[in-house]
Amino acid sequence: MSKFWSPKVRELTPYVPGEQPRKRLIKLNTNENPYPPAPGVEAVLREFPVDHLRRYPDPDSSALRAALAGELGVEPQQVFVGNGSDEILALAFQAFFCHGRPLEMPEVTYSFYPVYCRLFDVTRRALPLDAQWRVDLEAFTTDSSGAIFANPNAPTGHGHARQAIQGLLSRVKDSVVLIDEAYADFGGESAIPLVAEHDNLLVTGTFSKSRSLAGLRLGYAVGSRELIEGLERVKDSFNSYPIDSLASAVGIASLEDRQHFEACREAVITTRERTRERLESLGFQVLPSKANFLLVSHASLDAAQLFVGLRERGILVRHFNTEMLNNHLRISIGTEDEMDSLVETLESLCR
Ligand code: PMP
Repeated sequence: MSKFWSPKVRELTPYVPGEQPRKRLIKLNTNENPYPPAPGVEAVLREFPVDHLRRYPDPDSSALRAALAGELGVEPQQVFVGNGSDEILALAFQAFFCHGRPLEMPEVTYSFYPVYCRLFDVTRRALPLDAQWRVDLEAFTTDSSGAIFANPNAPTGHGHARQAIQGLLSRVKDSVVLIDEAYADFGGESAIPLVAEHDNLLVTGTFSKSRSLAGLRLGYAVGSRELIEGLERVKDSFNSYPIDSLASAVGIASLEDRQHFEACREAVITTRERTRERLESLGFQVLPSKANFLLVSHASLDAAQLFVGLRERGILVRHFNTEMLNNHLRISIGTEDEMDSLVETLESLCR
């Protein structure tokens, strides 16, 4: 504790991301993509004119926003880009949720949202999941500063169909509904087509998962011009350059290679379903997942012990120390070989 810290900073418990190991481990703990980025990304990195780094980047990120708009079927003015979707979430909290009224979110969802609530003095109203551990869309009220959840949700993996989201938006019209689609490319249904009819809907996405670019820090948001302007106002107050020039060029190269994108996400989905069957045959309960991870538990084996056992054998997965999740493990989908090693190791730990 430092005397220089403000009272708010003294109270903060920083979000702890999954660890980044130094030695060679099978890393299935932070939902990274096991496949490389599109080959065009490497070409951009090799050929990027270094003299461009002398200049400030385009303050509007016009080329990247246009490329994203084309990909997502919206106007460039409806797209915002940032340094990872985490940064955009932070801007959205400041732009839309600091109203004095509580922000509603599922009690189990991306653990960064409560961190931002504390950081930006937003009261959190946690809503229980339904009996199948799905986000209960009926539970959101109109008496809040907004709603936020991940779809597919993290770390459960369940994804609501667009029609269900439409139902929520037909009720909640006067506050911002933020849907975090970090994992939507792995089988979820995007709510982006609903943006045209709902000026209170903000959808965030990322290049970190389905585009294998977590190290680059590139995310985006799609919404009405009104919401995009709200984000721009906050952003411009402390840095009017959303994205550096290199990240823009890499992002565009990634968007240009649809074939690589499709092939990688299909591979992740196929491996996920194969892993699910194999884990179920070992006696694990596996929640249905539309993301690049599985949330699993075992009736007779302790998750914390399995976590340690896997770790000792060189496999990192995620164990959450919360009451609801502490008997579960979240396992990111790696390559087929990595998942073979995981299943074989779990098999030996189950004996
Ligand atoms: N949303 C969810 C649900 C996530 O799991 C993550 C990654 N941990 C993010 C957003 C942030 O992704 P990034 O900042 O890499 O775009």
